[in-house]
Formats: sequence, structure tokens, C-alpha cells
Amino acid sequence: MSQKGLEQVVTDNPLIQLDPEKKHLFQVIQRRGPIARADLLSLLQTNVATLSRMMRPLLEARLIAEVGIGESTGGRKPVLYDINPRDFYVAGLDISRPYTQVVLANLKMEPMAREQFEMDESCTPEKTTRLIGEAVRRLAGQLGIADEQLIGAGLGTAGPLDPERGLMLHPRNFKAPGWTEVPIQTMLEQVLGVTVAVDLGAAAAVLAENLFGLGRDHRNMAFFHCSGGIRTGATAAGRIVRGIRGAEDAFGHMVIAVDGEPCSCGNFGCIEAYASIIAIVKKFVAGLKLGRTSMVVKPLTAIRYTDICNVAAKGDALAREVLSNAACYFGTGLANYIKLLNPSLVILSGPLVSHSELFYTTAVRVALEKLNLDERQKVVFSKGGYFGDKAIAMGAATLWVERQLG
Ligand SMILES: [Zn+2]
Repeated sequence: MSQKGLEQVVTDNPLIQLDPEKKHLFQVIQRRGPIARADLLSLLQTNVATLSRMMRPLLEARLIAEVGIGESTGGRKPVLYDINPRDFYVAGLDISRPYTQVVLANLKMEPMAREQFEMDESCTPEKTTRLIGEAVRRLAGQLGIADEQLIGAGLGTAGPLDPERGLMLHPRNFKAPGWTEVPIQTMLEQVLGVTVAVDLGAAAAVLAENLFGLGRDHRNMAFFHCSGGIRTGATAAGRIVRGIRGAEDAFGHMVIAVDGEPCSCGNFGCIEAYASIIAIVKKFVAGLKLGRTSMVVKPLTAIRYTDICNVAAKGDALAREVLSNAACYFGTGLANYIKLLNPSLVILSGPLVSHSELFYTTAVRVALEKLNLDERQKVVFSKGGYFGDKAIAMGAATLWVERQLG
């Protein structure tokens, strides 16, 4: 792939060119495919001639394709249609405080290739966008994708955010300087040469899970990303629920202990002050300072949450105590959240959940204990969801596609 970003941003693409009825047909095939014409006829409530007229331009533009032959229901075996998984790609980007992830997805919203890099003290917005551009070009090279086959990109990132202007406002806790009032959308468009859609990471993730993941049959669902902070996205009646301030950390800053620990936001007793990676490391180190013993043999300043998760799995008493306590606070907050928003699916994800089975099982157990029987029966929990640790990046790619189909 050449450096097309240095030329100009391509605002045209085969999705945005479609008229509304063909956009709808594309969405139906994207969500239901592989699908036969007969099933499309009944879903769209149309006739054979109209359906053929609508499908022809999608086939000619290579957005959809014949993908096989279905089972016969009596007559001739039907041809099945689906989104063409090969000709067009979207970059899904996840800029988080500890890492940045780049995924290339096809229009069936399948992740095809991925790269990730750590966000250290040198990762300013300028360097991060440059590294993203390089990663996209490398991944495109691996997949043999030409310039014009990358048709757009989405970004899921940390709040607070102004998604309309593509502006990161003043996110906390990035290690490098410069992450204030960042016109991230424009910066990425210049580097990638395609249009970029921007939203909160957790909102993007819940969108992907809702449309293409575990949430297909759930109108109300919630997604939690447990890392340095706690990020939350939710859908109600199939639409993304938005916080007023354009933030995704409201859950993490719900006060759960009236006379509680100080939090990074300046308040006291927030869930994040107990259940974030930062809080867990702090509690564990405090235990060691008080003379508790542990299987972790490291200088106190070098201890990471992964060390704590690892020894907890081997039975380390201090590590288990610290993780269980953190999960109790998280689970209690989760029960309150479920009572309020009534999600039928709750996905817990992020590095803390993926590294600690104890944290996940304790949080779910505590949440269930604090719900009444009726509420308990209606909610399903998932560790990692369908897209796992690619949820935010895949959500971002989904977001771009949805905006084109708008
Ligand atoms: Zn707080």
C-alpha cells in the first residue's frame, strides 16, 4: 500500500453511493446472510422483480456475492447470497490508555488481521496516529489489499469526547503529553486517506456486539471494559445509551462507599477507586508493606496487575483477597446498574477480566446475589463477548459502516 494519506482524503465509497432502499438491503444481508432470495422476499415484503432490481447494483459493485447453494425445501436448491468478504475493508482502531489496537475487518464485520502497540510516555497524538498509519499499511500488505480496497476507518477511544467534531477533549491518564483537545478524526483522516468515524470505545464495542456479536437477540445490553479505568457502553431498545458529558466512565465514578477511598476524579468512594487495575495494584502493594507474604517476588514498584492475577490463580492468599474485594465492589455497582437499566445481556471484558477468572466469577456472583429473583432470571453474563479483546476496534469498524448506511 502506498502512502495515499499524503495525498487527499477519499470521501466517496461504494456504501455511501447506495440509495436508502439498497442500503437497507445491504444491512439485511449483512445481518442475516448467507440468505436465499426467497427469504429476502419475505423479510423485505417485496416481489421478485423489485428484489432483482435492488440486488443487481450490489452484485455489480461487488458488495454482495453468491456464496453457495442452500438446502432444498422441496424444489431446486437455492443460491445463497452474502456480503462479499474479500473486496472491501475497514480499519477498526482502538486508542486506549495502555495500548492502541489496529484491526482490518471485511464488510461482513469479520476481523482479518490485527496489530497492537503499547502506549508509553512517547506516544503523543502525533506519534500514535503515525504508528496507526504504519500498522494499517503493514496489515494491508499482509492481506494483499490495494489502496482503494480500504474504504474507511472507525476509532473507538477514551472519553470525554465530542464525536460530532471528532475531538478528544481531556481524557485522563494517558502516559504521554498532548492528549488534550486533540482533533483525532482529522489527524487520522490525513494519515489514512479515508474518512474516519469517531466514538467512545465502549459505545462502539456495544454496537458491534449488539449487531454482529452475542447481543443479536438482546435489545437492552451492557458492555464493561475493565482496565486502568472502567468503561461502559449500553444499548436500550437497540440504540446506544449516551451519557450527558460524552463520557464513558460514569459507572466507574458512581460512589459506592460513602466514606470511601480517594479517586482519580477527586471524589471519594467511586467504584474505580476499588475495582480498577490501578486500585488493585495499590491495595496489593499496601498489603505487602504491612508485612503480608505473597508468591510475587519483585520490587514493589515493578509489580503489575498481571503478577497479582497469575499468583491468585495459584492460590496466593493476598492476591485472592485483593481481587475478590475489588470484584465485590464492582459486582455491587453492577447490580445497581442492572436494576436501573435492565440489560438482558451483560458482557464483562478488558484485560482485568481476561487475566482473572476470580475477578470475573466473583463480580458476577456478587451482582446476582444483590438482584432479586426476577431480575436474576432475566440477565445473561458473558466473559469477553463475541469479539473478545478486539471488541472496541471491531466496534469502531462497525460504527464507520453504520454511518455510511445511516
Ligand atoms: Zn471517581
